[in-house]
Amino acid sequence: EGASLGAPQLPRYVRVNTLKTCVDDVIDFFKRQGYSYLGKAASVEELSSLSGKKFLLDLHLPELLVFPPQTDFHNNQLYTSGHIILQDKASCLPAFLLSPAAGSHVIDACAAPGNKTSHVAAILKNKGQIFAFDLDTKRLATMNTMLMRAGVTSFELAQRDFLTVDPRDSKYSKVTHILLDPSCSGSGMVNRVPTEEAAPSAERLQALAGFQRKILSHALSFPAVRRLAYSTCSVHQEENEDVVHAVLQEQGSAFRLVNVLPAWPCRGVATFPGAECCLRASPAETLTNGFFVAVLERCGEEAAVPS
Ligand code: SAM
Repeated sequence: EGASLGAPQLPRYVRVNTLKTCVDDVIDFFKRQGYSYLGKAASVEELSSLSGKKFLLDLHLPELLVFPPQTDFHNNQLYTSGHIILQDKASCLPAFLLSPAAGSHVIDACAAPGNKTSHVAAILKNKGQIFAFDLDTKRLATMNTMLMRAGVTSFELAQRDFLTVDPRDSKYSKVTHILLDPSCSGSGMVNRVPTEEAAPSAERLQALAGFQRKILSHALSFPAVRRLAYSTCSVHQEENEDVVHAVLQEQGSAFRLVNVLPAWPCRGVATFPGAECCLRASPAETLTNGFFVAVLERCGEEAAVPS
């Protein structure tokens, strides 16, 4: 996570792992380590003015603490023991917005290295079942260690191409929630080592978007799915609004976008009616990496979604 030269400074976000501890205990721990707690932030500007050993509770996410940029907790006891997860604020949005009720069956289709899986597990209070898939063996190994450290139980991790997972398999008949965070160009990552290919070519974007549309359609074909969170760390419309729009159209009126987190300042690019239901995130507007999230819900299911 080396900050590249000229990259904007993002705060250090710390997600409290509620499978192991609670926000109040973590706040007390940091106070004992000499940090001063300033309470809940009232604005994004307040997050950007943090300095020294001060920290805040985030204004949008209930279990997220915010420290000044470059605060390093990788050797902190709370991190090594899995009590806290070092995760960008934007990447906490998908699980938070998916919000499956405890006991739900959830698929995490592109799961490694598993930050979002562990967040889903915390929301489920370890009750229910998570089916997590990824193609990459090395990332899956990291993920296994990470989930163990975070105290995640009741998950099944498989090295699989999600596109080959059969939606009609009775194993998945109770899957009501899907988190879909597929490979993308990564164009939103501010700390990415700059390379010649920093800006993806039109061909690469087209190939990625084709894959993203295909995997989103596949996810929506699971018979019991009621709610799905689609996310990327890309700033490109081709991988974001365009993918969601194309798949919604292909699905007819089976699914619709949910207008999530109305207080969030940065919305989907208005390329189709309803696109503003999607969320965007950026270093300038939300003090996070560039990110996109859309939550889709099966039509006619309002009463079934927990409030
Ligand atoms: N959700 C993860 C997290 O929060 O830690 C990050 C996921 S990363 C953006 C995308 C992942 O998708 C990669 O680990 C990649 O190996 C995996 N992937 C790509 N194509 C896939 C496929 N067809 N089936 C399953 N996983 C796939």
